[in-house]
Amino acid sequence: MYSYEKTGILSKKDLKLPSKKQLEKGVAIIECVQEIPCNPCVDSCPVNAISMKDVNAPPIADYDKCIGCGKCIGICPGLAIFLTKIKDNKALITLQYEFLPIPEVETKVKALDREGNVVGKAIVKKVVKEGKTMVIAIEASADLAMDIRNIRVDS
Ligand code: SF4
Ligand code: SF4
Repeated sequence: MYSYEKTGILSKKDLKLPSKKQLEKGVAIIECVQEIPCNPCVDSCPVNAISMKDVNAPPIADYDKCIGCGKCIGICPGLAIFLTKIKDNKALITLQYEFLPIPEVETKVKALDREGNVVGKAIVKKVVKEGKTMVIAIEASADLAMDIRNIRVDS
């Protein structure tokens, strides 16, 4: 049973985690486990790294195939995809952000875990508008790579 079925929040134990080598390459972590009819992530991937048994099944990312292009992130209506890369003992995490104010590059922000708790600090490295959503890349401590799943911008 997934932990979210009890708590409403996914935990790392619910996910297939990438290897150190795959994280160094940079891969999309998909945190989508509910059986809903949705598949734009599958269609967005240029290398067919995301698969589903059928349109209602949860997507599965093939970390070996993923080239870390990030095309699947902004297209996900569930804000469930996080491009994660580790380099020089830093984690670069790219995620969707739906709040205001939109931070500028080099802004220091609070890094939040899946429960919304502050787990550390991060620096905004890239801000891109994709359709109606903002896709933001942040840099944080490498040991938080699989924990940070949102940010808080103090206005
Ligand atoms: S980051 Fe790019 S290659 Fe990797 S799963 Fe997403 S769309 Fe595919
Ligand atoms: S696009 Fe997002 S919400 Fe839809 S199946 Fe893919 S990961 Fe899940």
